[in-house]
Amino acid sequence: MEIEVSRQPQYQENVPLAQFASYRIGGPARVYCEAKSVETVREAVAEARGRGWRLFVLGGGTNLLIDDHGFDGLVLRPNLRVLEAESARVKVGAGMLVAELLEFLAERRLAGLEWAGGLPGTVGGAVRGNAGAFGGEIKDTAVEVVSLNTETLELTSRANAECGFGYRNSFFKQHPAEIILTTTFALREGDAAEIARVIEERKEYRRRRHPLEYPNIGSIFKNVDLKRVPDAVRELCAHVIKVDPFPVIPTAFLLSEAGLKGLRRGGAMISPKHPNFIVNIDHAGSGDVRGLVAEAKQTILDRFGVELEEEIQYVNGL
Ligand SMILES: Cc1cc2nc3c(=O)[nH]c(=O)nc-3n(C[C@H](O)[C@H](O)[C@H](O)COP(=O)(O)OP(=O)(O)OC[C@H]3O[C@@H](n4cnc5c(N)ncnc54)[C@H](O)[C@@H]3O)c2cc1C
Repeated sequence: MEIEVSRQPQYQENVPLAQFASYRIGGPARVYCEAKSVETVREAVAEARGRGWRLFVLGGGTNLLIDDHGFDGLVLRPNLRVLEAESARVKVGAGMLVAELLEFLAERRLAGLEWAGGLPGTVGGAVRGNAGAFGGEIKDTAVEVVSLNTETLELTSRANAECGFGYRNSFFKQHPAEIILTTTFALREGDAAEIARVIEERKEYRRRRHPLEYPNIGSIFKNVDLKRVPDAVRELCAHVIKVDPFPVIPTAFLLSEAGLKGLRRGGAMISPKHPNFIVNIDHAGSGDVRGLVAEAKQTILDRFGVELEEEIQYVNGL
């Protein structure tokens, strides 16, 4: 079908999505649009509604398993590049990379987000998932989030307490009709060298522990809440329990105990280096990864009576 294109925003048809995904997996978007202003985001959303297109909001593509069949609708990338500091408060556009934000904060000696050193993806994606690592979470410093509702086309500003932040969760994740536009972080003054040192230490830890040499999308499964495991498993895992941000059993430990390291399907493999990562070692398709996810879940359920829950997001073809 021929799709009429308007001048502003710019729509492209049949755009391969693998290029935007850290996994390098995924078929084409029927329509793709990068929006660099709030008005363009709003217009693109209105266009999608008018034409009855499904809508998917793309950030940095670092947490996505995109189907080989692609996405039959509009993939909208709200690439808002705002970065404004007013003393220790910093307002950031959803399209800024977390890495860009951290560089800005280090230059201005603003502390509070160093835990995110090496966290890939955009600020919008991180806020939506309340990303966290090394005991820190987005919710610790995000004080205001402005979002656009795709049904009403209205903007709403929410204070931290209204953002429903929880473990890898938020109001925005629960309400996919909200597109995050900007987030304001409240930071504190710190020492430039110390901020840069901690960020670098976090990056180095990731380089050592994670299989970054292959395309990946981070941890596939959430860590397991200690409250949800049978007593026998709790005993077996007592020595690996960590606080993240509440007591959990690292899923990587369970996958390793179950002998799943190195399990391969097609071009995908459960990483021997860090088994909560499934790496794309040789032109994997989405089905290869899905197969390994299903096999890992079943094995862990049979072996430990624990139900694993995905941390990654699926983008489905149809
Ligand atoms: C090597 C590696 C390490 C990682 N380590 C961590 C870690 O330590 N902690 C952690 O929490 N995560 C981690 N991740 C996962 C991922 O990086 C984070 O979840 C990241 O915050 C996702 O951001 P993104 O911009 O890439 O989002 P995407 O992957 O593009 O999208 C993720 C979801 O957010 C939605 N979304 C994106 N932008 C917006 C927006 N503006 N408004 C509304 N919804 C939006 C998308 O629709 C999608 O549902 C890791 C990933 C990798 C590859």
